[in-house]
Parts: sequence; structure tokens; C-alpha cells
Amino acid sequence: GFKCGIVGLPNVGKSTLFNALTKTAAAQAANYPFCTIEPNVGDVAVPEPRLKKLADIASSKEVIPARMQFVDIAGLVKGASKGEGLGNQFLANIREVDAVAYVLRCFEDDDITHVSNKIDPIADFEVVETELMLADLESLEKRKTNLEKKARGGDKDAKETLELVERALGELNNGRPARHADISEDEKKAWNGLQLLTAKPVLFVANVDEDSAADGNQFSEVVDERAAVEGAASVTISAKIESELAQLDDEEQAEYLETLGLDEPGLNRLIRTGFDLLDLHTYFTVGPKEARAWTVKRGATAPQAAGVIHTDFEKGFIRAETIAYADFIELGGEQPAKEAGKLRLEGKEYIVKDGDVMHFRFNT
Ligand code: GDP
Repeated sequence: GFKCGIVGLPNVGKSTLFNALTKTAAAQAANYPFCTIEPNVGDVAVPEPRLKKLADIASSKEVIPARMQFVDIAGLVKGASKGEGLGNQFLANIREVDAVAYVLRCFEDDDITHVSNKIDPIADFEVVETELMLADLESLEKRKTNLEKKARGGDKDAKETLELVERALGELNNGRPARHADISEDEKKAWNGLQLLTAKPVLFVANVDEDSAADGNQFSEVVDERAAVEGAASVTISAKIESELAQLDDEEQAEYLETLGLDEPGLNRLIRTGFDLLDLHTYFTVGPKEARAWTVKRGATAPQAAGVIHTDFEKGFIRAETIAYADFIELGGEQPAKEAGKLRLEGKEYIVKDGDVMHFRFNT
């Protein structure tokens, strides 16, 4: 599955946020079980309002949302790239995630120590990112010498990789994360193979005090501005409030949200933003037994989408009966959509669109 890592300095609210994520999902209906895979890995349902609408039309017995994982990556301190604190473990954990959510402390509380004694989310972000940049620099420098040797010997792959390594170093040596490098579609695969920590997409989570949950505060504003400059996503949330919301039943939750001036729990926004950040699409399978949301990378073909359900579906793929979400809803289901000529037969080359309702035909 797809994984989003939660990182930040100590005492910024990472565990509070992670625990809220785990509880909210657990508090949902039986179809949305939360499972803790490891103490620090949580598997959550992706909130997807379209799924329920499809299920209602098809009278599906079960509703099964798409899922993604959040990983609470503790242990970052200044010097992590040199193995300080839980440095090495910390870096290994980040290497495994698909995107990084930086939790930034935007609340004041004299009782809770801040590692540098000052609320400054941007400075905090820079401390954390600097460690990741240093780790990338070190791993690239290590590889470079070897690649140069091979490239001089006429190894074409090594030459190509070396070119990417130099591009990444160009950014890092200028104090910029590797994600700012210009990478073409063709180079993506080799680029991802470099496994750079600072090449991953990032999300800023401004953790604000309880009174600022709806509108943010002076600190979260600065975080939003910086996110815009970085081309990153940002979400303002109060981890404290979320942990309270997570313990309420639906009715109490709705009441509390209203008093707070919120439309939905901040965690829903966080999960959805994480999902978008991973460049994912949702497609649906809908029938009387179940309505289910599936996740594919943007740009996936119909056979690749089928492969998410089962590898046999991909191997034996013949075609996909496809109805656009809007047609399914407007026309009132599969049969009426078919009669209106809105059920398309798509082949191997078809690029799945977000919201497609699909039914795969395959050989076994
Ligand atoms: P971590 O070290 O980043 O995992 O931080 P924790 O989640 O353990 O939080 C550190 C302390 O800050 C705890 O005492 C939390 O209750 C408190 N805290 C976390 N989020 C908030 C918040 O939004 N508002 C306030 N006032 N306190 C918070």
C-alpha cells in the first residue's frame, strides 16, 4: 500500500496526531477497521464521499474504502544524519515512505518544552529538512566516485545515473531539496531508484492550538506561505482537538464540530491531502455484493488497475467495461448507463480516469 511518514522535532504533536488517526478509524463502522501493523504504522480508510453514493444506487451490501498507511517516525534530532539520537533508524524509516508529512508546532504552551525554546515552525522545518539533505548529500557523494569510474569505462547506465546524481547534487549543494530538480518523465524511474529522502513529495501539517482549529493562527499562516513557495501541500489541524474528536460517537462529533466551526474532522482533510500528494487516482468496482474504492497511480492503464485487485486480472486482461462516475450517478446505475450508451469497452491502452466505475473481463 501507499505510505505517508509523519516526521518532526520532538514535542510538536506527532504522537497525538498519530493516535488520533488510529482512534478515528477504529471508531468508524466495522467496515473501516483500523489496524496497527506495527506500533508506529497505522492503516486508515481514505474518506471518499463518492463511494457511498455509488453503493446507495447499487444497493451494495458492503462498502469498502481505499486505504493508506501513516507511519509515526520518531527520533529526529539535530545531527540525525550523523547518527545522533535514533538517526540511522530514522533515516531508514523515511526511505520506505512514499511521501513525508512534516508536523510543525504552531501552538504555544509554556508547559511543553520546545527543543529550541521558541515557536518557529519554519526554523523547525529547516532543521528537519537539513538533516535529510545532509543524508542525501552523503549517500550521493558515496555513489558518485564509483559511478564515475564505471562511466569512464563506457558503462552507459552508469553514465545516465551519474548525470542524475550530479543534478541532485546541484540542488543539494545549493541548499535545496532534491525534489526541486527538473526530471523528465523518461528519467523518473532511474530518479526514483536513487531513493533520495528529499525527492519525496512533502506536506506541511501546521499543528495549532485548540482555539485556532478552524481559522489557523499567525504561525500556520507562515507555514501556508512557505508551503506555497515549496510547491508543497499544507493542512492546518489541532492535534489536541482531533484526539478529542476521535473519541466521540458520530452525533457528539457532529455537535462538537459545529461548535468549533468545522465541516469535518481535520484528519479527513489530512488523509485526503496525503492521498492527493501521492499522485493517486481512485476507481470503483460496484455491485450488489460490495462497492469498493481502489487506488492506482495517476497514469495507470486499465490492466495495471486490474492488477491492483489481482495479478491474474492483469495477466489475463481482455477489456474493462467502464462507466464514468458522473454518468453512473446521473443515469442511476449500471443498467441505465448501459442503455444510454455510456458503458464503454476499454482495452489495454486505456488510461484510467479518476472516478471510473470498472468491471474487468479477463482470461484465467
Ligand atoms: P511528539 O513528540 O511530536 O510525538 O509530541 P506529542 O504528540 O507527544 O505532544 C507533545 C505534547 O504536546 C503533549 O503533551 C501533547 O498533549 C501536546 N500537544 C500536542 N498537540 C497539541 C495541541 O494542538 N495543542 C496543545 N496545547 N498541546 C498539544
